[in-house]
Amino acid sequence: MNNLKMDLSSNGSPLSPVIIVENIASQLACSPVDKKVALQMDEEDELKYFREHFHIPKVKDLPPTNLALVDEDENCIYFAGNSLGLQPKKIKTYIDEELDKWAKMGVHGHMNGKRPWIFGDECIVELMADIVGAHKEEVALMNGLTVNLHLLLLSFFKPTTNRYKILMEAKAFPSDHYAVESQLQLHGLNVERSLLIIEPRKGEETLRIEDILAVIEKEGDSVAVIFFSGVQYYTGQLFDIPRITKAGQEKGCLVGFDMAHAVGNIELCLHDWGVDFACWCTYKYLNTGAGGLAGAYIHEKHSQTVKPMLTGWWGHEFKTRFLMENKLQLSPGINGFRLSNPPILLVCALQASLEIFSQTPMKLLRKKSILLTGYLEYLIRHYYSEDKEDPEKTYVKIITPSHIEERGCQLTLAFSIPVKSVFKELEKRGIACDMREPNALRVAPVPLYNSFRDVHRFIEILGSAITSAEQTADSTAHS
Ligand SMILES: *Cc1c(COP(=O)(O)O)cnc(C)c1O
Repeated sequence: MNNLKMDLSSNGSPLSPVIIVENIASQLACSPVDKKVALQMDEEDELKYFREHFHIPKVKDLPPTNLALVDEDENCIYFAGNSLGLQPKKIKTYIDEELDKWAKMGVHGHMNGKRPWIFGDECIVELMADIVGAHKEEVALMNGLTVNLHLLLLSFFKPTTNRYKILMEAKAFPSDHYAVESQLQLHGLNVERSLLIIEPRKGEETLRIEDILAVIEKEGDSVAVIFFSGVQYYTGQLFDIPRITKAGQEKGCLVGFDMAHAVGNIELCLHDWGVDFACWCTYKYLNTGAGGLAGAYIHEKHSQTVKPMLTGWWGHEFKTRFLMENKLQLSPGINGFRLSNPPILLVCALQASLEIFSQTPMKLLRKKSILLTGYLEYLIRHYYSEDKEDPEKTYVKIITPSHIEERGCQLTLAFSIPVKSVFKELEKRGIACDMREPNALRVAPVPLYNSFRDVHRFIEILGSAITSAEQTADSTAHS
């Protein structure tokens, strides 16, 4: 039995997760919701060994766990990789190497050892470029995400009398929203007139591509920059990056993306899609730890024309950088945007993470991810209903689009009972996931370190968490 490898239908197209799950169940002669199906899928998972590269927290070590409700030696179910990825075991080794080097040779560490500090970022930038589908000259590793967004907008947003707007999706991540707002203000623009926001249709949670394209068509002539997320952090919606890029550019707009929730999650081809600029953090699916070294990208077509508005010595060409003559010889493209020497301890963390990714193509990770998240969706649809009037089943709605081309690994769930109480009950039982106001639970099975068994256990525990939350709601209603 080898379903994961035989997962093409007779016409060669990929089988849907539903069909794969049901095929396995019928071969095992059990129900599709039986734990045996999860164990079989783990057995067949070619990527299962990647889990060994990570520290998986134990339930007993998670602060909200109620020890009476769990087996304390169990690993936790970590579905919070969309917020902060787990720690690759190699990070500590690499950081220790640089701490030792510093202790032993001090300033000589800049030029010596296996990771000369002055080239720290450049040594690993190619690994990052592979993940985002760019040439290595198009990517720099520097700063944090929001800082990079500001640096890019300073150069890409050049409003004129007729073209002065920035177009974004509604409810963008607050930092992106504030960054854009403050950039408009920096140019003395009125935010209300200049910030164009696309909202979902009434009664809908996610955006339709035809609505996005219609706004671009209608308003494009006055839009200077279109700035969208690749994958929306709240809804988990994956936008059609190539179509938005093409439509915007046909209208004369520059098009940039925040890839924070897309990088390491879906396959990206920033260069081939012609995306003008992009930025991302690395502590979510790229697992580099809080505040990790961020990434920025500028398409090579801009390498001679788009210049940084703020400069520092690290943007100066390497050959003459240390002559200290104070005559700036700017590196082309994104490399000219570098300001400071790279933080080597953050480089170590990023290197450990990128080396894990380099062991498998994104295509394979994505293939597992589609099945893993599809399995989660399958089980949720089996046990719960999206109809609030359903007399049999509790209401749980999946806000994230069900088309696999329109999502990454995250599913966002909405409940009719208060989400906060469901979340608390999950946390007591050793689940790490994420709650966002007003009413969303975000769960992200990550293909690098989550298993099909994790998904199955999650569903079992979600059942008891919901029962418990319903009882609490009932008893408060009656008291
Ligand atoms: C995580 C995230 C951020 C966080 O920004 P930092 O500068 O890394 O603190 C910003 N925007 C988006 C879309 C994110 O997902």
